[in-house]
Amino acid sequence: AVFDNLSTNLEAIWTKLRNQDVLTRENVKEPMQDIRRALLEADVSLPVVRKFVKSVTEKAIGIGVIKGVRPDQQLVKVVNDELVSLMGGSRAEIEFAKGGPTVILMAGLQGVGKTTACGKLALYFKKKGKSVMMVATDIYRPAAIDQLLTLGRQVDAPVFEAGKNIKPAEIARRGLTEAKKQKIDVVIIDTAGRLQVDKAMMNELKEVKSTVNPTEVLLVVDAMTGQEAASLVAAFNLELGITGAILTKLDGDSRGGAALSVKEVSGKPIKFVGEGEGMTALEPFYPDRMASRILGMGDVLSFVEKAQEVMVQEEAEEMQRRIMEAKFDFNDFLKQTRNLARMGSMGGLMKLIPGMNKISPQQISEAEKSLKVMESMINSMTKQERENPELLAQSPSRRRRIAVGSGRSQEQVSQLVSQLFQMRARMKNLSTMMQGGSVPGLGA
Ligand code: GDP
Repeated sequence: AVFDNLSTNLEAIWTKLRNQDVLTRENVKEPMQDIRRALLEADVSLPVVRKFVKSVTEKAIGIGVIKGVRPDQQLVKVVNDELVSLMGGSRAEIEFAKGGPTVILMAGLQGVGKTTACGKLALYFKKKGKSVMMVATDIYRPAAIDQLLTLGRQVDAPVFEAGKNIKPAEIARRGLTEAKKQKIDVVIIDTAGRLQVDKAMMNELKEVKSTVNPTEVLLVVDAMTGQEAASLVAAFNLELGITGAILTKLDGDSRGGAALSVKEVSGKPIKFVGEGEGMTALEPFYPDRMASRILGMGDVLSFVEKAQEVMVQEEAEEMQRRIMEAKFDFNDFLKQTRNLARMGSMGGLMKLIPGMNKISPQQISEAEKSLKVMESMINSMTKQERENPELLAQSPSRRRRIAVGSGRSQEQVSQLVSQLFQMRARMKNLSTMMQGGSVPGLGA
């Protein structure tokens, strides 16, 4: 089955990290080389592999220790999340036209399973309660029209055809007129494929496209062609403009490179996958489900997520104690800003700190941007200065030294210092308010 080899190769990788305490640039080096090799073997294109490995590495070594979670489990989680985002993040749905039929133009090279996919899609939409019509415009391949007629009978959907002595764009136009007359919901237009991309085919597709103004243009590609499939999606998108891809014959492909490369290489999502010759063998493409299929570690993923939540909670409580004691210093400041950046997407930590729960995603992204600037300045402080921000408030020469050391302006350093004191003041107010009372947001 698809991804079999990749899954097996990855499995061997996690065990190599079993005896580590934390993921570091050094100890992820070898596993990352293995991941790189496994992806290349799966026929993922090289630039995609490079980008993937780089981003997994950065994220992996940025996590730090999560209590009770082993580094190999953490890496599984990071790899999973990156696989999901590589494949487009979330499911790319089919668009439906408002008023009038939804027109789906199907394109693709010969033999990839385009006509079969027309029938499968017809059945898919019929099961969703829509009326469907298919239109046969492949006037070149002998028996192409008959094949579509047969599929139409099989899935019980009408097929519009007008013989072979008429231009494809004209057939498509008449088919659409007929579909409108019959108040059909979805019109699927089958087109002629060639063995290779050529000008005549592209021009014909462009003509059909401009004639029917489709809601979706789906390129059908064969999974067994691996990264070549991804390049085709990119090429058709440039030439013709498409809205997505259907990846067929995933059942016959043990590598899976196409599924992993299409989105990244072409910018266009896979919308469906075909996994067999039968009419029911069509599945909507879900990046997260595909990633779980590759890793086969659903329970590890949910375990790591849980542990991350617990950690966020504990860090919030620790911060809370510091706030109550009004001891908030530059170390806390740095930690909290880092948390902001790290937890930004989870949105967890800030919700747990009282008075901080109205921070917007925009503010979080601002925080991420200024994190680097702050870090450079705080890194130029002595231990004493970090723990006693007053020293900086009192001494311009200290501030000057930090500005020079971090390559920032004195003004930036002064701003950072006053920011900390503002924060402290706000926290003091808060803790006075909450003195003796319960702490909102922290629960029981
Ligand atoms: P077209 O030339 O692109 O229209 O290709 P066809 O639809 O005629 O399909 C070519 C061959 O591929 C046929 O034998 C189909 O049964 C087969 N086929 C299509 N989709 C799939 C699939 O998802 N899995 C498998 N195993 N075979 C498929």
